[in-house]
Amino acid sequence: NNNKHDKEKGVNVQVLLRCRPLSEDEIRLHTPVVISCNENRREVSAVQNIANKQIDRTFAFDKVFGPNSQQRELFDQAVSPIVNEVLEGYNCTIFAYGQTGTGKTYTMEGGGGRKSKNGEFPSDAGVIPRAVRQIFDILEAQSAEYNMKVTFLELYNEEISDLLAPDEGPKFVDDKSKKPIALMEDGKGGVFVRGLEEEIVTTANEIYKILDKGSAKRRTAETLLNKQSSRSHSIFSITIHIKECTPEGEELIKCGKLNLVDLAGSENISRSGAREGRAREAGEINKSLLTLGRVINALVEHSGHVPYRDSKLTRLLRDSLGGKTKTCIIATISPSIHCLEETLSTLDYAHRAK
Ligand code: ADP
Ligand code: MG
Repeated sequence: NNNKHDKEKGVNVQVLLRCRPLSEDEIRLHTPVVISCNENRREVSAVQNIANKQIDRTFAFDKVFGPNSQQRELFDQAVSPIVNEVLEGYNCTIFAYGQTGTGKTYTMEGGGGRKSKNGEFPSDAGVIPRAVRQIFDILEAQSAEYNMKVTFLELYNEEISDLLAPDEGPKFVDDKSKKPIALMEDGKGGVFVRGLEEEIVTTANEIYKILDKGSAKRRTAETLLNKQSSRSHSIFSITIHIKECTPEGEELIKCGKLNLVDLAGSENISRSGAREGRAREAGEINKSLLTLGRVINALVEHSGHVPYRDSKLTRLLRDSLGGKTKTCIIATISPSIHCLEETLSTLDYAHRAK
């Protein structure tokens, strides 16, 4: 049993697999499905039988969410326990990893709105708004004294941009005088991002607005700079300080952090990575995704050296990866025959992370 094995080794990496349903277009075009999910056995199989090419492979995960799985199920079963850990003072990271178009953003942010009139979530609300709601619900139920701040950044081509920076109009695009964002060592083995906006938040609604603002900025910069969101990583981080009193009346501050990471499309490792012309751009994305894979491997295998320093993404997340932290990778795939090759690389990558 994997879970038992992991506990004995003290590993806190969980890998989940989610397969999206066929889209309406794919259904209309009678796209063949080559993926089957067995949620009870926590297995995913890729099967294709064409005379000259037979594929039949099965992969096991900590949890499997098939095409009919709902946002709420995924949150309740996989994310909610992690949010509780954050409130206990742990640093936790949730990654969405997969080919572009397989549901990373749908899983993390959701399909459309953040909430409806009666305060209930729309059923397609993703992990971020649900996590935020749970955090506030628990803190309010405990009447805890706390302070909470969020940051939202994007990593593109190994450069950090702040999705919460005040809007300076279109000129910010090439303005070299703009306050540079830099990843700095803090001298205690940690890192911090110089110049990054931190927003103090006191209600869930404030966070929803920040999330909307950041996502809109991501889209604007994408158009203006001719970027592709499929090549960028976004990191939404919530840091919470909670004041507690020991039975002896001593005051303690518990600090937890939750990072929610929408990774660049995994096809950036395999396909564009090989193309020489765009080596720098593609290569750099490669670097963060590849390094993340290596870091997670090293953590799972307990091989002494963990190559955090090899990419910005892993440097940024260093205090939330390994040690006493909890990490959850949600690997997303498409069921379609046309994605099979990428799906197999995602299954391989995610499987290795276990
Ligand atoms: P990615 O961020 O990985 O590129 P998206 O999240 O943008 O992919 O998803 C691509 C499309 O598929 C979107 O229209 C999204 O709404 C839809 N989609 C993805 N996952 C699901 C799912 N589990 N259920 C229903 N629709 C989904
Ligand atoms: Mg996306």
